Amino acid sequence: MSGIPRDQIEAFIKMWLESVEQEKVRTGLPIVRDEKTGDPLYFDQRELRLRYLIPVKRIQRFFEGLQQDQVLYTECKSCGFRFFPPQADCSKCGSTEMEWRPIEGPGKLLTYTVINVKPTSFMHYDDYVVAIARMKEGFNVLAWLKAKDPSQIKIGMDVRLVVERRMPENYLTYAFVPAESG
Ligand SMILES: [Zn+2]
Repeated sequence: MSGIPRDQIEAFIKMWLESVEQEKVRTGLPIVRDEKTGDPLYFDQRELRLRYLIPVKRIQRFFEGLQQDQVLYTECKSCGFRFFPPQADCSKCGSTEMEWRPIEGPGKLLTYTVINVKPTSFMHYDDYVVAIARMKEGFNVLAWLKAKDPSQIKIGMDVRLVVERRMPENYLTYAFVPAESG
């Protein structure tokens, strides 16, 4: 992974916020100067929250599956094509007759990357591993890979999918674990 280490970015932001605070105390105004132009900028800091509402009615079965500790895919009853993430319609033959089935795996690890420079929305997580595995069912799955010791992760190793409650968001999602671990 390339990029500026997170602690350096955070140290820079902290320094910058401190200088903004000093300027606010000095002038009594929440105004900072643009570094390039010197133009006054009104400074307002608040936490950014994003909310998404994505229609999931036709793949609701997938979420019910997670509640039952299963990761489900769909298989077209007409042409047999398998979809993960599950689709409610077959994009191969156009059929809307789909069967829901649990992924049993195992999968073979195709590739992975350790994420230590995280996107802003994932800043609160420890370093994590994102992996792609080829499942026995015949499709690839992208998910986090949970391994106690990252050095045990090897391309080609067997992995299986488990349902877990991701914190602090507190929702059910799926992740890989090494196949031999309980
Ligand atoms: Zn089909």
